[in-house]
Amino acid sequence: MKIANARVIVCSPGRNFVTLKLETADGLYGLGDATLNGRELAVASYLTEHVVPLLIGRDARRIEDIWQFFYKGAYWRRGPVTMSAIAAVDTALWDLKGKALNVPVYQLLGGASREAVRVYGHASGESIEDTLAAVGRYRDRGYTAIRAQCAVPGMAKTYGIGRTDAYEPAERGALVESVWDTSRYLAIVPVLFERLRREFGPDVQLLHDVHHRLTPIEAARLGHALEPYHLFWMEDPTPAENQESFRLIRQHTSTPLAVGEVFNSIHDCRLLIQEQLIDYIRTTVVHAGGISHLRKIASLAELHSVRTGSHGATDLSPVCMAAALHFDLSVHNFGIQEYMPHSTDTDRVFPHAYTFAEGMMHPGDAPGLGVDIDESLAVTFPYERAYLPVARLTDGTMHDW
Ligand SMILES: [Mg+2]
Repeated sequence: MKIANARVIVCSPGRNFVTLKLETADGLYGLGDATLNGRELAVASYLTEHVVPLLIGRDARRIEDIWQFFYKGAYWRRGPVTMSAIAAVDTALWDLKGKALNVPVYQLLGGASREAVRVYGHASGESIEDTLAAVGRYRDRGYTAIRAQCAVPGMAKTYGIGRTDAYEPAERGALVESVWDTSRYLAIVPVLFERLRREFGPDVQLLHDVHHRLTPIEAARLGHALEPYHLFWMEDPTPAENQESFRLIRQHTSTPLAVGEVFNSIHDCRLLIQEQLIDYIRTTVVHAGGISHLRKIASLAELHSVRTGSHGATDLSPVCMAAALHFDLSVHNFGIQEYMPHSTDTDRVFPHAYTFAEGMMHPGDAPGLGVDIDESLAVTFPYERAYLPVARLTDGTMHDW
């Protein structure tokens, strides 16, 4: 099973995706997602210029050795560009191994630990009433866990608020700047969740994403204020470059904490996990070194009663979504999976075996990951530069987005 060819495919069926396709001398191929939202071409270049030439001729069966070769062998370790590139190679190799052995990837990972994977959807609105209506729509579609975000009065644009239920956070063309006001945000969020609990009762799981906007003590105050409404989690309450800042939040609130969608290695969350400063680790297949490395993070987390809750917005291609579902189905300490359905064009470019029903997903039983790429259709959607927005405080100071 020697790797005979490797190619990077960049396309934009509604948003940009970077896909690695590995082909073996015996005619099999495997796919890996390498999409890094807003910095897509950096990973495409890293793969094409530096990784692909070193892949040709390698034995595709040696997944762990190839992972270590690209991690230790680069000398320059970690970082989102490097780890997304390694993730793409790793994911494609798991896909290849599954196809070679004619089994779905989750069977190679120890088999299913559950019947299906619970996912949560994104409900949002320009007002509390709109958000209540959006949560109702998600519940009607079968979701049992729903993230709720509400526009902040007086702020022109709030993160996570879509014009429709199917929104795309990255914007094509000019970079968008939004304004952030912490006081107004902290005033409205507890009101929103008080209404949501009153309207929908105790059974629906409610989640909220703070998107790294608060200081640790502000996050502690919000977590404490939300305790009566029993959130499933409060996500990204504060930036986590300093993992120790979560100690302060933890001292003040029993609201469960989730963080990690921007992490790219186990070293970004080691302290958070070992000291049980969080409840859910949100690292993803594509940004945290692939299935192989994510399993190591999950194993460390399992020792410390931390569960997985992987990032799953539309910046994951269907290749990563499939890989995530094989991982989710197999690890014992799975918690929940984020899910934003892709556009129709994306689903046409990436036909897939995974399914959604009643708030649950399953990767399917096709050999490998169960996802393909229609290359002739992909070329009809060329790359378009797009950025996530940025945020400034009302006085113009740059803030976390
Ligand atoms: Mg998030």
